[in-house]
Amino acid sequence: MPETPGEHVVPRVGRVWGFLDHWASRTPDAPLDELDGTGRAPRTYRQAADDVARCAAALRASGVRAGDRVAVLTTPRPEFLTVFLALSRIGAVWVGLNPRYTRDELLHVVTDSEPVLLVSLAEHAGRSYAEDMAALREAAGSVRETVALTGSFPGAVPFEEFLARADTSPLEEPPGGAGSDDDPGLIIYTSGTTGRPKGALISHRALAEGCRLQATRVYHSPSVSLANLPVGHVAGLMDVVSVPLAMGGAVCFMEDFDPAAIPGVIERAKVTLWGQIPTMFQLVMARPEAAEADLSSLEYIAWGGAPLPRELVAPLRATGARLISVYGLTESCVSVAYNEPDADEETLATTVGRPDPRLELRIVGEDGEPAAPGAPGEIQVRNPCLMSGYLGLPEATAEAFTEDGFLRTGDVGVERPDGTIMLVGRLKEMFKSGGYAVYPREIEMALEAHPGVAAAAVVAVPDPVFHEVGAAFVVPRPGSGAGAEELVRHCRDRLAGHKVPKHVEIVEGLPLLPTGKVDKAALRRAFTASP
Ligand code: AMP
Repeated sequence: MPETPGEHVVPRVGRVWGFLDHWASRTPDAPLDELDGTGRAPRTYRQAADDVARCAAALRASGVRAGDRVAVLTTPRPEFLTVFLALSRIGAVWVGLNPRYTRDELLHVVTDSEPVLLVSLAEHAGRSYAEDMAALREAAGSVRETVALTGSFPGAVPFEEFLARADTSPLEEPPGGAGSDDDPGLIIYTSGTTGRPKGALISHRALAEGCRLQATRVYHSPSVSLANLPVGHVAGLMDVVSVPLAMGGAVCFMEDFDPAAIPGVIERAKVTLWGQIPTMFQLVMARPEAAEADLSSLEYIAWGGAPLPRELVAPLRATGARLISVYGLTESCVSVAYNEPDADEETLATTVGRPDPRLELRIVGEDGEPAAPGAPGEIQVRNPCLMSGYLGLPEATAEAFTEDGFLRTGDVGVERPDGTIMLVGRLKEMFKSGGYAVYPREIEMALEAHPGVAAAAVVAVPDPVFHEVGAAFVVPRPGSGAGAEELVRHCRDRLAGHKVPKHVEIVEGLPLLPTGKVDKAALRRAFTASP
């Protein structure tokens, strides 16, 4: 492979904090981050290094040690980056809580990950988190303290007060007891076949090395990345934040996905790297603001998580940016295949590009042997960035890997003669709605918890905006009278928005396979055939 552009510029470090340390000493006055591209002076690398040192000292003064978990509920904003890098610096473990999670979903993550500290926004988008945090603290005996990252709420120490603890107990230099780079640095919750999200453990080194590998692919300077993806997932933590940090670039945060505001922010902040889930591009490019704004600062437009609709290729290319797709999964941490900027429209819309030649990728047929070119098989990957396993789930961890250490992606792919890979199906039941992984079993369990439901089956069906959405087929209990609307409301109370089924059909019975399992293919056909 030809040398990647940032090969000699992006440093090799053992944990993401090392990127900040590296660039703060070389380009201390370079901008690091800002919120909403308001034109106010961005925080520089030097300032951020000071903020992170202070936060790290405050964490240590509060008894947080290497290996301890800290659960943080935040939107993408500079305070998030401060806490994220401070945890990295002292070797503690980041657990991101999605502000859109329901109380039930938050409870699962917190009781499973057992953090010593909870950090949360006081409120966001009209939701106050005070009661959620009180409930989490009561449910998880591990939590010693709650910190209000913004604002204040009862039972929480305001962030400024928390940081002031650093003044009386500064961080020793270099910080001792920061653990090993091979210990977990992140726990990312990803939905599971069993219905409960599983925590994928990613080591400090896996994340840092993944950032280095990706940063060399999209290296350009000076860079400004737009970061508006949730910080509990790989894309929001790594692709749009830590990868730009690895290149010494700047990050422009936006707390929410706001399609009308994005073009203006790109213009004002002179964003050069715009990474989104394809559905998001669709929603932005359909806005009149996208046609009116000057998007010529864009150098790279990147997407992953789902295929890009073909009709988006031309308008995105018209901005003058290079288009690049990444393919990976939570458990792989790093992107393992890329569509290159010179790929044609057909290749961009139908393939995930070519495997990164620096990493191992194989396609394995049902017989366990490498699939012949052109024949479908499971994509399996091996590299130093893979997750170390699922928290507390040795069986699920063992199932995720082959004996020789390849991660089973569950994606079925075909290698085309030009070396690009086309995804043709999945071995796992997961589907992607608006770029988010959804497991039907989790929705079925939520539906089955309704007193009026006797049985429920959920399948993925195509959707013009979200690519795929859940369609639920529900058999009611006799005389219950629970209708589709009531069931959607019920799901909304229990599941984050992208998991709520968009279609609910009340049926008398579910079609079964000879094995007694629900015949989901028949349900999918029934959905397509219904008017
Ligand atoms: P997640 O763990 O939520 O990141 O989901 C990972 C899954 O998203 C993969 O196993 C693929 O099925 C899908 N995926 C990731 N990247 C792409 C891409 N560029 N194009 C199509 N599907 C993708």
